[in-house]
Amino acid sequence: MKTKRIKRPVCYLVGLLVFGLMLYSCLQDETDLDSRETTGKIIKGKNRELSIDVARSWYEAHQTPVVTTRSVATHFELMTKLHWKKGYENRKGKFEVVEVPLLTRGGAVLMDSETMEKCKDTERGKIRNISRMVIIKNLETGEIINFVMHIVGTYDYLMKAKHFEDNSYLYRAPDLSGSVYFYEPEGGLVNGWQYENGKIVATISQGTEEGLKMQATADTRSESSECHYESVFVEYDECTPFIYEDPEYGIGFGIECRTRTKYETKLVCNNIYHDENGNAHTWFPPEVDSGGGVGGGYQPVAPKAKAIFRNSNMTDNSWKTIENLLDKMTKTKIGEALYHKLQEALKGKTLIIQFVSDNMNSNFDPGLGGIKMRMDITSSALLHEMVHALQSYTEQETWNATQLNQEFEAHLIQQIYINSLEESERTWWYEKSKNDSRWNATRLLVRYIDEFGNLRPGITAGKLQKIIPKIISDFRDVGYDNIDYPWLNSRKGLDNFNNLRSLYQ
Ligand SMILES: [Zn+2]
Repeated sequence: MKTKRIKRPVCYLVGLLVFGLMLYSCLQDETDLDSRETTGKIIKGKNRELSIDVARSWYEAHQTPVVTTRSVATHFELMTKLHWKKGYENRKGKFEVVEVPLLTRGGAVLMDSETMEKCKDTERGKIRNISRMVIIKNLETGEIINFVMHIVGTYDYLMKAKHFEDNSYLYRAPDLSGSVYFYEPEGGLVNGWQYENGKIVATISQGTEEGLKMQATADTRSESSECHYESVFVEYDECTPFIYEDPEYGIGFGIECRTRTKYETKLVCNNIYHDENGNAHTWFPPEVDSGGGVGGGYQPVAPKAKAIFRNSNMTDNSWKTIENLLDKMTKTKIGEALYHKLQEALKGKTLIIQFVSDNMNSNFDPGLGGIKMRMDITSSALLHEMVHALQSYTEQETWNATQLNQEFEAHLIQQIYINSLEESERTWWYEKSKNDSRWNATRLLVRYIDEFGNLRPGITAGKLQKIIPKIISDFRDVGYDNIDYPWLNSRKGLDNFNNLRSLYQ
């Protein structure tokens, strides 16, 4: 009797276990399938984290409702508004995307020069382009970015394409012929791709009017030339009433509509190769994995640098130099904190950045509203000037009276940053600066103040205040004179390091 009683629950248990295993394996199958799907295919309308609502509240907290993209070369602006009701979600791999069509002012349509020449009024319905705000979340890093995408088909493609609107950030139709452009949300062309029958054939970057003119006047257009300039046009309704005076009928009124304007001068370069799988690559590294699949994605040059600096004349290589310094800087805790604090203080604005010759010093110039730097600047020297830029927002009216107080803080933050780098760099810096009295004074400060701007254990405000006269004279000894670098004596102790203390708040 006893054994039977035990056997029955065991039976149930085994049954339950088998059922459970079945259920588990079913579930596992589904998640397997799901993860397989997410790596290769595009899934529409099922975003897990970046839904349209999430994208909208993110967007409205960070961006302006009216979006103006500009051509740097032609100084033409395109004003647009987001049409959230027509927004849609899709995802692929680690990227979730929300695309929102942009309503352009005056119903502006972008087109290439061939389309502009050939388009007749009867075909007007077929002359269209895609303009969308793209918002992307990288599920691995949690980062959300946004940019404007314009897709402009060739004349032949537009005439035959039945599903032109299916083209998206993640999907390019297999027969797409035309160009895909990416613009900063409030700015100029970032990069682009040219397609022929769904295949990438060229890269697009910002062109110049001078380049376009030189190309037009060149006696022989060299066939081997890798790059050439092309124009993009915009047609829009700008209906302005005007008054005219007819010699026969006198004064009359009219309305003038449909303006055609050059929108963009682009540089098209045939620098694409295809690997054995037919995937497109550019000759120049690095390719950024931005969800656009095999090439074709948004690839901003120096996004960190351009988020806080501006200079319309700077080459991509110079931008990359600054980006590398910022990449190195933001790998440290204090560098990362300073970068974000400065970005916060700028409130979406940017500082001018300029290179100066090697016989000049790098410095923050409040008159210029930016930083002048030498080509051979180190990340720590750039960080020093970024501290001064931050101080220009926090000091304001005391700016001129506290120059030396500010230098104390900039030097201290720079030394703390160097202390967080690898040993070889710390040693290099020490050897370079060991005979400089202000750096020895700064290293003395580090013994009193920790990396968060607080007094170290056992140090009192009185003890800190006591060493300040010595540090002042150590700075004066190397040229920080009291005319250009006055010391505000009413500012005591730790109050000289308020920016450092606020870095992590
Ligand atoms: Zn300084």
